[in-house]
Amino acid sequence: MNPLRSAILAAARSDRLRTAITAARPTRAVVDRFVAGETAADALRVARALVATGCVVSLDHLGEDVTDASEAGRAVDAYREVITAIADAGLADRVEVSVKLSALGQALGAAGSQGAAGAQGAAGSHGVGGEQAAAGEQIAREHAAAICAAAAEAGTTVTVDAEDHTTTDATLRVVAALRETWPWVGAVLQAQLRRTEDDCRALAGAGSRVRLCKGAYAEPESVAYDTAGDVRASFARCAGILLDGAGHPMFATHDPALIRPLTQLPGVSTRAEFQMLYGVRPDEQRRLVGEGHTVRVYVPYGTQWYGYLMRRLAERPANVGFFVRALAGR
Ligand code: FAD
Repeated sequence: MNPLRSAILAAARSDRLRTAITAARPTRAVVDRFVAGETAADALRVARALVATGCVVSLDHLGEDVTDASEAGRAVDAYREVITAIADAGLADRVEVSVKLSALGQALGAAGSQGAAGAQGAAGSHGVGGEQAAAGEQIAREHAAAICAAAAEAGTTVTVDAEDHTTTDATLRVVAALRETWPWVGAVLQAQLRRTEDDCRALAGAGSRVRLCKGAYAEPESVAYDTAGDVRASFARCAGILLDGAGHPMFATHDPALIRPLTQLPGVSTRAEFQMLYGVRPDEQRRLVGEGHTVRVYVPYGTQWYGYLMRRLAERPANVGFFVRALAGR
């Protein structure tokens, strides 16, 4: 992996840098390019504008690696608030939500309070062992179920984001459990992981909503492809497996080398969708809509933008200079 990219991804998991950079308050321009704003109302305003251009939307309340139970509870409240706002705006058929299980308590300890498991999670990889991991998984599952219940009542859907590879098994177990009640719950698979072709086969059944992305986390070579070419080739193979199945593939990439051939395939415009991030390639989003494709824009909002923004910088290290200048107030 490009050394600058791995340095930025390491910084994305650093509490010390998170505190320092958040306190330095980079100019709104840096954050605003990728983040809709701080409140549910901000998110709805951006969602409404995107829907007016023909896109559909997934709203993400920013937050991850939560280390105390009250914060995880507040994340559930935030999702309930935005789901109500989606329904009140009459947008439930166009706007869904995306959730990260680490924001809902996946790394919390047995008592659901701040403790060893949470601290370990915050320090870096949040794969925790034994009973504590099982307790964190249960807490996250219950919180995700509360969000799914609210979504079901509102008539919208939920997609469960993928995080680093130490959480993949636990996250897919939670998705499977949620799907027993809410079969529309979306799963996310990361093409950079060597296991993902098998996961695509397992999740390509009827009605299964699967977002395929490359993967935004720094991963060891033992579990992940290292070069951009290998990740792209894996994405293409995984996309083929999902399209051969009976589910609803959601191709989340800005990469023209992947998007172009996918748009040529029969059936893609009717039974698949493309997904892109808010602020990235908006012209391409509109072009694909114009060609008759479904394009879902992932729109993050909230105050916890640090980890998300650092992953976007890691994808385009060329933007680092812009970010540093903004931090310095120039
Ligand atoms: P890259 O591999 O970064 O770039 C490939 C090419 O795309 C570039 O050469 C360029 O031609 C074009 N391109 C890329 N960015 C730009 C830009 N800003 N402007 C112009 N051209 C550009 N990751 C996870 O790990 N878990 C998730 O749950 C997850 N959810 C996601 C949801 C959505 C909707 C999207 C779009 C991504 C998500 N990701 C997630 C991030 C994803 O894994 C990748 O890290 C990210 O999308 C970068 O890969 P890429 O294929 O888009 O482009």
